[in-house]
Formats: sequence, C-alpha cells, structure tokens
Amino acid sequence: MKTIGILSSGGDAPGMNAAIRAVVRTAVYNKLRVMAIRRGFNGLIRGDIEEMSAASVGEIIHRGGTILHTARCEEFKTPEGVKKAYNIAKIFGIDAVIVVGGDGSFRGARDLSKLGMPVIGIPGTIDNDIACTDYTIGFDTAVNTVIDALNKIRDTVTSHERINIIEVMGRRAGDIALYSGLAGGAENVIVPEIEYNIDEICRSLIQGKNRGKQSYIIIVAEGAGNAFSIAKEIEEKTGFEVRVTVLGHLQRGGSPTAMDRLLASRMGAYAVNILLEGKTNRIVAVRGSRIVDYDIDEALSMPKEIDESMYELARILSI
Ligand code: ADP
Repeated sequence: MKTIGILSSGGDAPGMNAAIRAVVRTAVYNKLRVMAIRRGFNGLIRGDIEEMSAASVGEIIHRGGTILHTARCEEFKTPEGVKKAYNIAKIFGIDAVIVVGGDGSFRGARDLSKLGMPVIGIPGTIDNDIACTDYTIGFDTAVNTVIDALNKIRDTVTSHERINIIEVMGRRAGDIALYSGLAGGAENVIVPEIEYNIDEICRSLIQGKNRGKQSYIIIVAEGAGNAFSIAKEIEEKTGFEVRVTVLGHLQRGGSPTAMDRLLASRMGAYAVNILLEGKTNRIVAVRGSRIVDYDIDEALSMPKEIDESMYELARILSI
C-alpha cells in the first residue's frame, strides 16, 4: 500500500478537520502518499482528487466543518456509481480509502470494499448514533453548543418564569438531548428511543410551578416528536404558555472541543496505522479510553442503544 485516499461524507461535524489532519500527517510520516477526495463520494465519481502534503492540513485543527467539503451522493447508491468510483480511485493510484462520516457513509464504503478497494471508516457525526463506538467525532462539541444555548435560554426563561422547549438534533439517537439535558439540568428530556408520557411531564411542570420553580426547560430530540406540537399539547393541558427554540444547524458548527480534537487525532492516526498493519474494511471506534476497530459488517449490524441508566439519572436529578 502506497497511496491513501481520504474523504468526508454525510453530515459535517466539528473535529472532522482534526481527523483529516491526523490521517495526512500520520501517512506522510510513514512515507505514504495521501490524496484528498473532495465532496464525499461525488469527488470519487468525478475525479475531484488532489495530492496532499503535511502542509495542506496546517491551521485546521481548530476549525469546524471539513476542508474536504462533504456532500450526499445518490449516484453512489447505485452499483454503476460504486463501480465508477472504484475505477476512478484506481486511475488515481489510490490503494485504500479512509471515509470520515456517519453510518450512511460507512454503508457506501462497504459497497466500495466489495469491489476490492480496502476501506477504513472514522466515525464523524454530531449525533453519536454509531453503535460500535462510545463517542463519535463532533458529539462533544455539539453537546457543549447545546449547553451554551441552554444556559442562555435559562437566563431569559428564569427572568420571565417561563417554560421553554429546546429542540436539538438527533433523528434516530437521543444522545445529544440526553447528554446536554443531564449536563444542563433540563427538567425533562425527550428522546426517540424512550416513549414519553405527556401527562407525567405536565404533572411535574405543575408541581414545579407550585413549589416555586422559576424556569422549566424541556429538551426534545428532533426524532422524538415535533417540539411545536408538544408545546401546544402542554399549553392545552395546563394553560401555561410554552415557548420553543429550535437550535438547528447551529449545533453542527464551531471550533471543536479539546475532547473532539483528541478523539479525532487518535482515530485518524489509528486508521492509517491499521492500514499499515494490513487490516482492511474496519471501522475505528473508542471503547472506554481505548481506540479499537471493528469489522465493517459487524459494526453496521450492531444496534445503537441509548444509555437507559443515564436517562433515569437525568429524570431523578431534575425532580
Ligand atoms: P451519514 O454518513 O452522515 O450517515 P448519509 O446517510 O447522508 O450520511 O450518507 C452519506 C452518503 O453515503 C450518501 O449520500 C450516499 O452517497 C452514501 N450512502 C448512504 N447510505 C448508503 C447505502 N445504504 N448504500 C450505499 N451508499 C450509501
């Protein structure tokens, strides 16, 4: 193996740049060539590819987003698209492709590997919805962004003695809602994995008001229900006014936290090192404090579960 291609794909996440930097620098350190593939799998299909050097990844460790850009690519979901991408990779002399992205991107990478192109996946997504790893790159930054917003909303909510629902990202996984809810002291956390009871929420809200609670914040993961409908239901049942804040794409941006930079740096270097050891078709993960790797098929078949004990803790601590 002499030449590695690297691309980022799917939703961007803070820390992707730190991962790209680590891949490039580790590869160069080991006398490998690295090719930047721009705009995800689109770049592979179109040959949007250029050689990188150690200097091309200078000044990016602290920047959110991804210097390689990211995109979604419908053509790559077809066998013809994958074949085209494989041929282009070969034409550019690429011997292995490292994909930084979410599980959709890993499914794409797996298709590429089936044609004989070795691949390694690095989990980069704010949602933390990849089952084989405790944490994905970008999650910690997103949670910190949500907490920052929550603190600010709490100031105004407390002044007016109001109720606010904050909708955060997470279509399938409630981790952003749960972690930021617990760390930010939200009164309720609503996640897609666990059914919620609106009457229970209304009851705790009324009890809270009666004992003088000055602010009440509910965090809802976007996949768990529509924040505006939940607000309307609470208003109808309790008579209290409920405001909604949708954080949206704000959660995708920002300079990555130290935790995300460290995770990305370790995972990026690890990806190159396992390729050098001859391992292929693996997903890099963190388990406890160790960086490990899983077979791509095994990783993609693992069910992602929410930490129910943490959900319970958030419930207990918000009484
Ligand atoms: P993420 O990687 O963040 O989960 P997406 O699900 O949008 O993001 O996937 C990114 C890209 O990966 C898609 O645009 C497509 O090119 C490729 N992809 C996604 N799902 C599949 C699949 N099931 N098979 C092949 N390629 C896929």
